[in-house]
Amino acid sequence: MRFQTRSIIANEDVEGPRTIRTLNPATEEVLAEVSALDAEGALRAVEAAKAAFPAWAATPHEERERLLASWLEIMVEEADELARLVAMEGGKPVAEARLVDLFPACEVLSYYARHLHELLAFQPVTPNQLLFRHWKAGYRFDPLGVVAVITPWNYPVGIPMAELVQAVAAGNTVVFKPASATVLVGLALGDMARRAGFPPGVINAVALPGSVTDTVLDHPDVAKVLFTGSVDIGRHVARRCADRLAPCVLELGGKDAAVVAADAHLERTARGLVWGAFMNSGQTCASIERVYVERPIAEALIERIVELTEALVVGDPMAEGTDMGPLTTASQRDLVAHQVAAAMEAGARPLTGGRLPEGPGYYYPPTVLVDVTDDMEIMREETFGPVMPIAVVEDLDEAIRRANGSKFGLTASGWTRSGETAARLAAELEAGVVSINDHAVPFAEPTGCWGGVRESGLGRTHGRFGLYELVNIKYVAHDAGDAKASPWYYPYDADFGNFMDAALPALYGSGSGKVRSLIRLSATRRFIERVRKGTLLRNIKALW
Ligand code: NAD
Repeated sequence: MRFQTRSIIANEDVEGPRTIRTLNPATEEVLAEVSALDAEGALRAVEAAKAAFPAWAATPHEERERLLASWLEIMVEEADELARLVAMEGGKPVAEARLVDLFPACEVLSYYARHLHELLAFQPVTPNQLLFRHWKAGYRFDPLGVVAVITPWNYPVGIPMAELVQAVAAGNTVVFKPASATVLVGLALGDMARRAGFPPGVINAVALPGSVTDTVLDHPDVAKVLFTGSVDIGRHVARRCADRLAPCVLELGGKDAAVVAADAHLERTARGLVWGAFMNSGQTCASIERVYVERPIAEALIERIVELTEALVVGDPMAEGTDMGPLTTASQRDLVAHQVAAAMEAGARPLTGGRLPEGPGYYYPPTVLVDVTDDMEIMREETFGPVMPIAVVEDLDEAIRRANGSKFGLTASGWTRSGETAARLAAELEAGVVSINDHAVPFAEPTGCWGGVRESGLGRTHGRFGLYELVNIKYVAHDAGDAKASPWYYPYDADFGNFMDAALPALYGSGSGKVRSLIRLSATRRFIERVRKGTLLRNIKALW
């Protein structure tokens, strides 16, 4: 497999003075030494993006759509190679890389390649104020400028693609900094964009250690930062941005809860929870990290969950039939082992897993824990590993209260066959996304938005609201300019006083007082000379 081991700035390969060593987490062997940039290289990337911005912002929507379609074509053609690279560098099985990285990426490319022009088209709005009704008014969605896209290692294709596609679709140019642990995948995406024909400087993919990323965060020409990663670094990003009042979107950690009602479909729920907790070895911001199950279904559900968990094939991510690979980094594996050990010391019981395996690779077995309490670290802090702690609850009130009792609130799921219970869970679970009878999959739906409440982040990515984060939402009020004066222009003379005195009750009052005020209003000189009588008559019904 050929690796892209240099940054791509203005479509040129660029070397830097630093090195990022990337590993295969299944074998701990070095995959590549990637030439990494320093602050000077980061500046160069911002400058390239800035230089490319005016022409890209002026590029017609249809041309942007064509380039996204061409990127999609390359991604589909090279899907196998890319999925293998994701598996090799990140540790998830090849088939899963296709499912959770390539599928959402292709879907978002395909969606914007078809719908960008509608989503960004001028959106006319009829003014509500009667005196403004003659305006041609509405919203423009103008690009912001240079956007920094900083992404984590857990979905090295799925996450950056959603953000890159929206950013460039909206007419921005980008400095894209993938996580060091999956830098090869990030640079491969940059190379695909270059081959798809994006003009130089529109997408700059940089191998840049996190420690020198402040150069990008602090740069006055970076109009917005899209950051996906941990709460700690997110806080750092927000502080740097606050210093220069630059906006940022933060997609941070989660401690997602699944609430299982007594009437849930047992088999579907067991399968759904096992997938939602162990997919990508649990290294998913929206992974199920807490289960609250109503007592009547608990015993049978837990039994089935353990059976399904024990049937998972843990092993070589490159081999067909593997359900779960290693974790991506040694430090992540150590954190998971620490949290499970601490929970067990405090009384939690593993029904399966819970023990560090021997041998190479950052493996940790899928683990089901019961007898957990909400004060344990494993129920409070993000685990980001293959652990499913299950707590049995007496009723839905308790489940919802405990699910919401977290500093996080990224996504949540409810499992029930009752429409009424589903509606209650959708309303009461505090999260940016709620799924009923599934978990985390809305990530792959390009019309759905993504984001969290509390420490899970700020703002949204994906969907219409994610797109709106990447544009200047500009309201345009267009008066044809053919009248000598608007009613509110000077002078504030006695006639204007009468006009204003009558205008409020005429517009907002009711009953006979309203009618009397309308008559008074229409007798003022200001009304006769300046109000557009035709517009008013055409919209007369709006007065009542
Ligand atoms: P991380 O915060 O360590 O790194 C994220 C990115 O920030 C990487 O590209 C990293 O190189 C960069 N970075 C590191 N130091 C930096 C600095 N000082 N300034 C600027 N950038 C810096 O996170 P991670 O370990 O790569 O990813 C795991 C975390 O990401 C988990 O907490 C997970 O929940 C979260 N995450 C959230 C979402 C979401 O959509 N909300 C999605 C995926 C992952």
